[in-house]
Amino acid sequence: MALGEFDLIRRFFAGSALQHPFNQLGIGDDCALLNLPDSYQIAVTADTMVENVHFFADVDPNALGHKVLAVNLSDLAAMGAEPFAVTLALTVPKVDEFWLQAFADGFLALARQYRVDLVGGDTTSGPLTLTVQAMGAVPRGQALLRSGARPGDLVFVSGPIGDAGLGLKIRKGLPGLNNELALQRMDRPLPRIETGLALRGIASACIDISDGLAADLGHILQQSDVGAVLDWDKLPLSAAVSDYIATSSDWTLPLSAGDDYELCFTVPAAAAAKVPAGCHCVGVIEAEPGLRMRRAGRIENIQARGYQHFA
Ligand code: ADP
Ligand code: MG
Repeated sequence: MALGEFDLIRRFFAGSALQHPFNQLGIGDDCALLNLPDSYQIAVTADTMVENVHFFADVDPNALGHKVLAVNLSDLAAMGAEPFAVTLALTVPKVDEFWLQAFADGFLALARQYRVDLVGGDTTSGPLTLTVQAMGAVPRGQALLRSGARPGDLVFVSGPIGDAGLGLKIRKGLPGLNNELALQRMDRPLPRIETGLALRGIASACIDISDGLAADLGHILQQSDVGAVLDWDKLPLSAAVSDYIATSSDWTLPLSAGDDYELCFTVPAAAAAKVPAGCHCVGVIEAEPGLRMRRAGRIENIQARGYQHFA
């Protein structure tokens, strides 16, 4: 007989002991119970992934479990929050034990890596849909907002951009390219938690790059009421992305491609020396609104439109 809802939860999701000291009671009662010291605020976020919108039906379920958690932890990283608990609302068309085991393995492996507990959720039958809600702790008043960038601040990214977008093109059949690193970055992004924590008290604004640098930096610019000029030569690009640009002349990929989950943040020039190693300064904030790019001796205006549902 197929597994019922309760057996399914117990077998795949309720196995492990709680790891984080803030979590008192996890899966098994009507609610989880979490305790935070008074000096902290809770950063809360949720992200949904829907089959055929966010992933293909034949995606590796282990990678999917990893990614649905990673994208949520990335939002906590962008706030400078330390993740401690997540919930999972899982809608599956049928009980496929191999699929569920691989999905849970991918999800729980990443959770263990960051000492995050799966403390509850919901399990229903229907079209494959995954919703994760993530909670992180941040010392009161220290969260990294989108609204704090000021003219003269330097713009940074935490690592190479464009690889996940290249991975998507490869998976969709871009001829002549089979780049493992790009596919890996699309399937198994790593949330930049350590970088987010290190930026507390240093960054004036921060966001994670889920929709592309232009669109996501655009949110900082809009909410901070400023503009920016980026320097094309300073963008950190992998060899594969550089090759793609050289052969396709589609140079907008690192600006428009999402899914890299690097952080984009701004830092007052006086604090630039405190930025963690591995981050790259790519431009500067200006009072004049809009996003511009200095490239081949010219300054071009950049349209900041990432992927938008319903658009
Ligand atoms: P209720 O009917 O009270 O909502 P459920 O039967 O939905 O309770 O869930 C029982 C317990 O299992 C609860 O603690 C709930 O948070 C947890 N749970 C259900 N589904 C999941 C899931 N996919 N992942 C983690 N915990 C889950
Ligand atoms: Mg329920």
